[in-house]
Amino acid sequence: MFSKFRWNFVFSVLLISIIGFVFFDFFLYYSLKDYLYQQTFHEMRLKTHLAVFWLEQKHLQPLPDHLASLNDITFQIRDIVNCRVTILDSSGRVLTDTDVPTERIQFMDNHYNRPEVQDALKNGWGQIYRESDTIRRKLFYTAFLINYQTKKVGFLRLAYYAANFEASIDKILSSLIIANLVGLAILLISSLVLGALVTIPILQIVRTAQKIAAGNLDKKFSVNRKDEIGLLNAILNQLTERMRNQIHEISYERSKLQNIFTNLDIGIIVVDHQKRVLQANPEIYQILEIATNEIKDQNIIDILFSEPLLTDIGQTLTTGNRNKGEMVCLRNENKIFLNYIVIPFTTSESEPTGALIQLHNITELKTLEAIRRDFVANASHELKTPLTAITGYAETLLDGAIDEPSARVKFIRRIREQAQRLEFLIADLLKLSELDRENALDIKPRILNSIIEEVIEDFKDKALQKNIELSLKLAETVKVKIDEEGIRTVFSNLIDNAIKYTPEGGLVTVRMNLIPHNRVRVEVIDTGIGIDRKYHERIFQRFYRVDKARSRSLGGTGLGLAIVKHIIEQHGGKIHIQSELGSGSCFWFELKVR
Ligand code: ADP
Repeated sequence: MFSKFRWNFVFSVLLISIIGFVFFDFFLYYSLKDYLYQQTFHEMRLKTHLAVFWLEQKHLQPLPDHLASLNDITFQIRDIVNCRVTILDSSGRVLTDTDVPTERIQFMDNHYNRPEVQDALKNGWGQIYRESDTIRRKLFYTAFLINYQTKKVGFLRLAYYAANFEASIDKILSSLIIANLVGLAILLISSLVLGALVTIPILQIVRTAQKIAAGNLDKKFSVNRKDEIGLLNAILNQLTERMRNQIHEISYERSKLQNIFTNLDIGIIVVDHQKRVLQANPEIYQILEIATNEIKDQNIIDILFSEPLLTDIGQTLTTGNRNKGEMVCLRNENKIFLNYIVIPFTTSESEPTGALIQLHNITELKTLEAIRRDFVANASHELKTPLTAITGYAETLLDGAIDEPSARVKFIRRIREQAQRLEFLIADLLKLSELDRENALDIKPRILNSIIEEVIEDFKDKALQKNIELSLKLAETVKVKIDEEGIRTVFSNLIDNAIKYTPEGGLVTVRMNLIPHNRVRVEVIDTGIGIDRKYHERIFQRFYRVDKARSRSLGGTGLGLAIVKHIIEQHGGKIHIQSELGSGSCFWFELKVR
């Protein structure tokens, strides 16, 4: 495969070589040519001097005289110098010429204006390489001005026909071109080989780098060389190794953070500077009861509209301060109470680029707080009533009633009644607080039948007083894992209520049946006043009574069913009620048989 680099390399080498060759050839060609010129002229100058010397030796007369002898001498000179010899008189007329027959000499052009003759006239010496007007060939000309007794008498001109000169020059040129082409071919091959030596390992490195960039981080650079490319290979392997370690470290840290973020039991929302949601943890979806896709890229206003929260986010985004507060929002017609902290979120050291909002659902806390408040108020009220009565009776006694025997007994009895009420109330309150403790139950396998029978036995007298029949319908002996004391309290409260709210001559039945799924169902049924459906939920609340006065007069505290519900729930069950006003009640629950 030819890489771009290899092409560029080959192309550059060839381009530089061609430019170099052209300059070199140009220089060599002209230097050589010039050298040959100079050499030829040098030779001709020597020949000319030799010819002049010969002429002066043989012919000392003014030139035009003795033309015949001049003719002879001219041919002698030609034999010596091996050139065309021409002798002109001072006006440029040809006197003799070795290459032109004698009879045609008189028809020859006047040579006065020939460049070599003109040069000789001016400088005593002229030379030129030019085309001959007479024989139409390129010749080397030299001309020498001949003086006789300080008088210009004529010119001696030599012409040399260098037949091979041009051909030699052309041959040199074509040899150079062939040499250049061979050189270029060698350069092309060697640059291709050199290019391959460099590019093949680079291509290997590039291919590995591409695979690594595509995510295959386990790839290794495998060019095994001892030069700079080998060094580059080793450095790249080191870099990849470091990158791999860093990526592992980052993804480990990221998944750690993601885990924390996902499992936090406080809600987190991250918003940008435009209050657009960037990220939220799963707890947020639970708190706000919304789906995952309902939150991303939404403006926080559309998800959580709360004036104080929005103001605090705006302030955090401009000042970079933390802000916290409390807010209420409506979800499915329910009020949700949330605690929030807005923390600035910066990527640089300057202004915050966003905010991280922590949301903590405090609805349960708020509800518990409200329950506690109500409970304290109710308990205080319940405690205050008998105490006020006791104080009143005591004062009446002190005001003189103590001296009347019949009144004294009456008031002391009432004081005892109220004190008993207080005792029951405090006992129930203590029971509740005991149940609120963690691990309040002591769960052990127990025979349920005997517990019920014992409780029934306790209430026999009370039932008898009201002429109420106590009926027990128990199935076979059932063993359950329960807190005995707790279940005993449950039966006591339910049977007590059944007797309390059933008029004289009524019937209270306790039934126990085994039902599918290895469970036992227990029912306390009475033929009493019954409870309107609208109170079925509320009678299990602390201090709630359908008829306050009746309950009080019967010694009720309003805590009995709350205690029952609490204990049954702690056993993993649920207390149920079936009742209509005026047609008796049935309280039932289920337990798992062991
Ligand atoms: P109390 O001490 O007032 O009985 P409870 O919590 O035991 O308090 O019961 C709450 C209320 O539920 C009672 O005040 C009464 O109005 C009603 N209630 C409970 N049991 C019965 C029942 N068997 N028949 C009719 N009403 C009942």
